[in-house]
Amino acid sequence: MKHPLLAEALRVFWSLKMKFKKFNTINKQEIDEVKKILETGTLSGFVAEWGHSFLGGERVKKLEEFASAQFSSRYCISYNSWTSGLISAIGAIGISPGDQVITTPWTMSASASAILHFNGVPVFADIDERTFCIDTNSVESLVNEHTKAIMSVDIFGQSANTENLMRIANKYSLKVISDSAQAPGAMRNGRPAGTLTHFGGISLNYHKHIHCGEGGLLFTEDENLALRARLLRNHAEVSIVGSDHENFNNMVGFNFRLGEIEAAITAIQLTKLSSIIDKRRQLANILDQEFADIAGLITPYVDSGNTHVYYVYALRITDKKIRRIKDVLVERLRREGMDFLDPKYENLHLLPVFQKKIAFGLNGFPWNLNDAGRNLSYKKGICPVAERMQDEEYLGIYLNAYDFEEDDIKIFCQTFKKIWHDLQDSY
Ligand SMILES: *Cc1c(COP(=O)(O)O)cnc(C)c1O
Repeated sequence: MKHPLLAEALRVFWSLKMKFKKFNTINKQEIDEVKKILETGTLSGFVAEWGHSFLGGERVKKLEEFASAQFSSRYCISYNSWTSGLISAIGAIGISPGDQVITTPWTMSASASAILHFNGVPVFADIDERTFCIDTNSVESLVNEHTKAIMSVDIFGQSANTENLMRIANKYSLKVISDSAQAPGAMRNGRPAGTLTHFGGISLNYHKHIHCGEGGLLFTEDENLALRARLLRNHAEVSIVGSDHENFNNMVGFNFRLGEIEAAITAIQLTKLSSIIDKRRQLANILDQEFADIAGLITPYVDSGNTHVYYVYALRITDKKIRRIKDVLVERLRREGMDFLDPKYENLHLLPVFQKKIAFGLNGFPWNLNDAGRNLSYKKGICPVAERMQDEEYLGIYLNAYDFEEDDIKIFCQTFKKIWHDLQDSY
């Protein structure tokens, strides 16, 4: 554009026009169903004592039946958040104070804080630069006598390599929990993410593919683990009375119960999941094609056996110039009204709670419980790939931000390419 004023006018016009549609999966179906429940006046069916109502209301039970069929999982346990589901999974597998759980630094903080809530110690393995999921090759060397479990995360919408993790787990008698919060409906070797390990599950919070406001679904094939997870959901210490449950370890419970309204909404949302994913994949296809000809930009790698649901479309910038100024690229796009890119993902090991090793009280608990914990280091450098991705290569397109149409994505790609080339010329 020769004339600067004209260029500016066009830019302003463009940003006014650029109104992406809100991502909204709720419609009349949910509204009608919620009305029916409100009219009954009974919004939760849970009672904290052993018996029929220990497992929740009618809608909760129906949802769990429905979800376990849809995910081909023997047991489904619903929660008032996926964080609650993760905490219950950690408790159910019997994490004791000072036990170590190997996890990944590329996840939402709840994956690691769930470990801390049972006084376990998170140990961070590095990530695979192609998928951003836990690098299964970096896990085994972290196993020691205190290691009890692996918490892997299906980050951005595809499964981690669960076969490798289960092989390591079987070798050292560990349990594996999959945090599939961002990958509802993603498959690995024909099975849904979240059902390939001892425990797994999805989030139903407002920012995910499907939601009920706040909620989560936990899956397992193991009857005893399911019972323990259900006890922890509903005041285990009192609910256990009258049950035939005899293992009391970690059985100080919570109120992690899902209400009837949220359960009914979730049941409807689940029926929409596959069409939401289909649309998402079409958008990802366009992005793949549009970005194919940009040198120095790598489009998402889908691991063999996986299908991807693209919660985030995660790019890697290898162009030496642009990767130093990816913040500028993101800012320029923001100024064009495209505010759904992120140049960073949190490296959890660098958070103050781990840097200072203070979780509960002031004396380094739970790290101070054994030498392995005391000697554990979270210093910068322990996860070189994760750190390099954050500082240099990673660029995420948050596809959940709006209800994008194919044309939106095409226009976005044109703008992206223009700015990319401008930056190459001007820096
Ligand atoms: C959203 C998310 C969570 C937490 O789920 P909530 O339902 O908000 O508690 C945990 N892990 C990951 C990877 C997530 O994306």
